Amino acid sequence: MQKYFEKLYRENSTEFYKVVCKDLQNSQKAFIITANPETFMMGQENKNFGKVLESKNTIIIPDGIGIVKAANSLGIPLTERITGVDLVSYLLNQANQMKKSIFLYGAKNEVLTTFINKIKLEYPDINISGYYDGYSSKDDDVMEDMLKLKPDIILVALGIPRQELLINKYYDKAQKGIFIGVGGSFDVLSGTKKRAPKFFVKCNLEWLYRIVKEPSRIKRFYRSNVRFIKIIHKLKKSGVTFEK
Ligand code: UDP
Repeated sequence: MQKYFEKLYRENSTEFYKVVCKDLQNSQKAFIITANPETFMMGQENKNFGKVLESKNTIIIPDGIGIVKAANSLGIPLTERITGVDLVSYLLNQANQMKKSIFLYGAKNEVLTTFINKIKLEYPDINISGYYDGYSSKDDDVMEDMLKLKPDIILVALGIPRQELLINKYYDKAQKGIFIGVGGSFDVLSGTKKRAPKFFVKCNLEWLYRIVKEPSRIKRFYRSNVRFIKIIHKLKKSGVTFEK
């Protein structure tokens, strides 16, 4: 867990967007992981996923408020969340301006189709090089196709850890591309699932909104968050320090 916090991106979203924008412009490869406490707990439980989090190839950004608060309590000066949904919106804008290409994999067929139509309408200069829903194809077939198409942005929306493990398997083979595991972002950005109202986002209560809307998440959320808090507590007690 300590290593994940050491690797965590520390600047604010504006700075991060500048980095991503430059990578996109220069066709530099990047592999971004949007983290919340569940992500870090998954890294502890799943060895392969843990390795991906620790890999030099990956950039971890603080998507969840739990990560920001935990980092602060460990003395890491993080100021704000950088959410996957906002990052994808930003990238779509940039890709449209730069006339870049995008490849999408994941979500239900109707969600993906709605999202694709929205991209075509609102970002007409993006070249959609390929897309596959997350229920009809084999992961490897999709990624082999992605390699051939050489897209500039690759969004994989299959949930953790599957999306990151899959990206990791193909990342070294790709010549270029900004790869992001985006979880349920297609559901939100297509308009199928509502994002929390601004008030919740502003007050860092988006997690609460999601739980109320999807009570099936409570068990998963409670389990990983309680254990996460315990680990942070232990880390603090051990006197661990992080570079300022
Ligand atoms: N999903 C998919 N194929 C599957 C399982 C899930 O495409 O076999 C999609 C699902 O439709 C959803 C996303 O993966 O769009 C996972 O969303 P969730 O909010 O659970 O992800 P999290 O960010 O919580 O990991």
